[in-house]
Amino acid sequence: MTRLSQSFFVTQREAPNDAVALSHQLLLRGGYIRALGQTAGLYTYGPLLWRVIQKIERIIRAELDSIHAQECLLPQLHPAEIWKASGRWEVYRAERLMFTLKDGTGEQAREYGLGPTHEEAVCDFVLGSLTTYRQLPFTLYQIQTKFRNERRPRFGLMRGREFIMKDAYSFHANEESLKATYRDMYGVYTRIFERTGLNFRAVEADSGAIGGSGSHEFMALAEIGEDTILYCDEANYAANVEKARSLPPAAVPAANPGPREKVATPGLKTGQQQAERLGIDVTQIVKNILYLALKDGQEFPVLVSIRGDRQVNETKVKNQVQALDLRLPSETEVLALTGVPTGFLGPNALKTGVHLVDPTAAELRFFSTGCNEPDYHWTAANWHEDGLTLGRVVDVDMAQAGDRCHLLPTAFLKSAKGIELGHIFQLGTKYSQPMGVTFADETGVPQPVLMGCYGIGVSRLAAALVEQSHDADGIIWPVAIAPYHVHLVIPNLNDQDQQRFAQKVYRDLRDFGVEVLLDDRDERAGVKFKDADLIGLPYRLTVGRDLKAGFVEVRDRRTGKTEKAPVNEVVSYLVGLIREGGADTVPPLG
Ligand code: ATP
Ligand code: MG
Repeated sequence: MTRLSQSFFVTQREAPNDAVALSHQLLLRGGYIRALGQTAGLYTYGPLLWRVIQKIERIIRAELDSIHAQECLLPQLHPAEIWKASGRWEVYRAERLMFTLKDGTGEQAREYGLGPTHEEAVCDFVLGSLTTYRQLPFTLYQIQTKFRNERRPRFGLMRGREFIMKDAYSFHANEESLKATYRDMYGVYTRIFERTGLNFRAVEADSGAIGGSGSHEFMALAEIGEDTILYCDEANYAANVEKARSLPPAAVPAANPGPREKVATPGLKTGQQQAERLGIDVTQIVKNILYLALKDGQEFPVLVSIRGDRQVNETKVKNQVQALDLRLPSETEVLALTGVPTGFLGPNALKTGVHLVDPTAAELRFFSTGCNEPDYHWTAANWHEDGLTLGRVVDVDMAQAGDRCHLLPTAFLKSAKGIELGHIFQLGTKYSQPMGVTFADETGVPQPVLMGCYGIGVSRLAAALVEQSHDADGIIWPVAIAPYHVHLVIPNLNDQDQQRFAQKVYRDLRDFGVEVLLDDRDERAGVKFKDADLIGLPYRLTVGRDLKAGFVEVRDRRTGKTEKAPVNEVVSYLVGLIREGGADTVPPLG
């Protein structure tokens, strides 16, 4: 039994001002976490949080083991060579995502990185030992601390520089096998998040240049989430906004297009200003936006044409040109590349480079657009006239709430905020190819192995649960992953009957696998109750004055309802409640 009188247990009335997220505030106040050296993104997981984490890990292990994934542990200190082999050393260095270090000096110095993810490490592990298709498929996983030099560590455990992740990697001889494991993982993830008591949603995710339905994210629904989800319940469609498709509203047809001409629009740079000046609807405008894309260490211009009322989805653009990064050029760069200032670029602004045209723009007729001269726009222009060549027509539109669903045009997309908790991804040969991880197929020919990768943010999951489940008084843990099930309070330490009964009820509960935290501190009952609400165990059992009359008090943290239970029934009553909450599916921690 954990007795608070013998524990390091500190709670706080107030959270520091810089704790914005409620989960961050409550975890700090409840003594669950503490920033190391007051540094953002580095947290000590106190004893209470560590129990929560262990329970989440037990659920994850049980589910992964059920599909025969094998647990292992890869090193966290990675020699630079394995990252150079995959081609990601420079990428991670350029983005300053990986913490790197040097051992030794001069020629002898060796470079290392602290593992932000383990595709390279796991490939290195199987490299050389994987020889034949007969060894495939298999899945390896680990639960371990990851290091990422996040630019903006924030919201406590949500975005740390050091955090706990479960990462799994599967290896396959062919697509069907990869897809089968991917489907199994989808099921495993669904069960894991259901068992932890989360309100979550699986969404289609961006899978880079690979495309297709090769990737899903599992999102905890919460206002503070940094991701936007678009969904349509009628069509059972949900996607990260980075990936989402939609049917944009129809353009307002041009009433009387008039002749095509160049109209002076001095200083009118935005579509809205242009529409007002020309007396047209903003949906009759084609806007042209210049980007600089980075690929293989080189930047090149990409011009995107899209309808005036729509926004460009930069992730889609990046995937179309297979770029690592995309940025808006400076005004000087725009002038150097096109000869005209921003706002007056025409669809033909680039002599060389890529021109992408969103269907919303490609479909327009008699539209207004820049004519590549400062202070002038076309009216009633059409593609293929006056040098308005149509570039590559591809979807680069940012879907938004209110758009029609592309699967069911009578339904409309809604949006929600989500916290990404898990990500499953069909990698194919993205890492095995450069790293040379091959196997001999049935005809003896060496083939690069196909891979899938699957991550869960374990520490982030704990924070997401708090974000979803709390009230003004504190945290409300779901039974399955609460640090303990029952908060046992002895209001009067001098009452020997209370003491004796508390000991007995503790032993009885323990025999049923119920975990009890005993508040036997020399504090006022009011203080103990406040702390109990703050740390948020599912049930509070108070052995107080009514004991003489044969009753104790059981309080449900979630509903706030208090019941008087007869002393001889309280154990079976509590055991019943806790089993209902699914706690017996997680082996007790003691
Ligand atoms: P994000 O977009 O939130 O940065 P990511 O796409 O970089 O996440 P992955 O590389 O897929 O994340 O990592 C797997 C999981 O690890 C994520 O789904 C998330 O739950 C968790 N995770 C990622 N970065 C962090 C972080 N800085 N702190 C805590 N958990 C994280
Ligand atoms: Mg990230």
